[in-house]
Amino acid sequence: MERPCAWKKYTPQQIEELEDLCRGYKQFLSENKTERLCVKTGIKMAEEAGYVNLETVIAEGRALKAGDKVYAANHGKDLMLVNLGTAPLEQGFNILGAHVDSPRLDLKQNPAFEAGDMAYLDTHYYGGVKSYHWVASPLALVGVICKKDGTTVDINIGDKADDPVFTISDLLIHLSSEQMAKPAKDAVDAEILDVIVGGRPVKFDEDDKDAPKEPVKQMFLDILEEQYDVEEEDFLSAEIEVVPAGPARDMGLDRSMILGYGHDDRVCAYPSMLAQINVTNVERTSITLIVDKEEIGSVGATGMTSRFFENTVAEIMTLAGEDSPLALRRALAHSRMLSSDVSAGFDPGYAGKFETKNAAYMGRGLCFNKYTGSRGKGGSNDADAEYVALVRDIMDEAGVDFQTCELGRVNAGGGGTIAYIMAKYGMNVIDSGVAVLSMHALWEVANKADIYEAYRGYKAFIERA
Ligand code: MN
Ligand code: MN
Repeated sequence: MERPCAWKKYTPQQIEELEDLCRGYKQFLSENKTERLCVKTGIKMAEEAGYVNLETVIAEGRALKAGDKVYAANHGKDLMLVNLGTAPLEQGFNILGAHVDSPRLDLKQNPAFEAGDMAYLDTHYYGGVKSYHWVASPLALVGVICKKDGTTVDINIGDKADDPVFTISDLLIHLSSEQMAKPAKDAVDAEILDVIVGGRPVKFDEDDKDAPKEPVKQMFLDILEEQYDVEEEDFLSAEIEVVPAGPARDMGLDRSMILGYGHDDRVCAYPSMLAQINVTNVERTSITLIVDKEEIGSVGATGMTSRFFENTVAEIMTLAGEDSPLALRRALAHSRMLSSDVSAGFDPGYAGKFETKNAAYMGRGLCFNKYTGSRGKGGSNDADAEYVALVRDIMDEAGVDFQTCELGRVNAGGGGTIAYIMAKYGMNVIDSGVAVLSMHALWEVANKADIYEAYRGYKAFIERA
């Protein structure tokens, strides 16, 4: 039951479509390295396609009807796009979901210090990272600083061509005999993932009693104040993410792949949003859900376990005249979802970690994982066989290349997604997504054919599920 390589079937016109989609995706990935930016750009994409802010609809007391398109954002970190269909909402929705938070280093609340005549910012890692990946590589600082006066300063340094970049140093090989003998998890202590941000002191008079004790850190803070009008204390209320600097790029001489930061899980989020926007007239209401905090367990006000989704559905159903609590429960239970997240692409160098019949291969199309989890499917949503049959049929009818897969060999490890959280409503959910290499590394690899098939699969699901 080997699945074919998707590239073999493409017509010249499809290759053009594929390249078009991937050009847009590369730009999205390069310009939106935080969940906040992904949501901001998602709103822009939606508004350009005629979606209206749900808050505006509520404020104006407008009713919603078939054909109406609305969006709702949550704390600037989650986004829900809704296209109302002709069928009663109670009959359920076709839902696409993906997350836009990616593994990274976050600045600590009190991050700045000086050592060895250099200025540093201290970090606390977010999600599953290998510390040794993060040293000796160009880094950017992206995020927000919120001030007491209620204003927010956007920070985005390191990605523009003439921007300075930052880095975390690594120990030179000449002095590394002890470090090299350590297990990889201990080779770089996560506590010393400190970003170098300066190396020049402010000028001061040696006799001056008020001379700064940390003149290099002072220089960094002075520049920050001059350029962004913020002071050191403002870091207390900041969310700044340390991310790899530089754009996503074509990879391979044949340009068949994309090397980029944050494929997990923007490689599913972007095609999902695009499919949602591009399918206009639907029978069953379509929803695309873009969420935060998946990498740390989907917790908090912006994680999938928050009530944002349910509350927003309740608002929409009320505005559409289906405002009973029972109708809401029925709608959720009757919904169908593709819960998308990246899959582990088969890596020949580490073939022993995969079981070849059930591995995700680069270029063989959209992945479906009936179950995920670890240690005997623990923590997994296990999609019903009946639902898998429906999804297979939709993909085959639309000519979408897909493959079924598992996250590595039994007991090799494992992982979870947001699927089980939505499944709590009783709806049918299956894990799907795009295979990547080097998942959670600074630069991950995705195959353009898989991105294209994902987009086509998402469209088919919205239209036909
Ligand atoms: Mn993910
Ligand atoms: Mn992940």
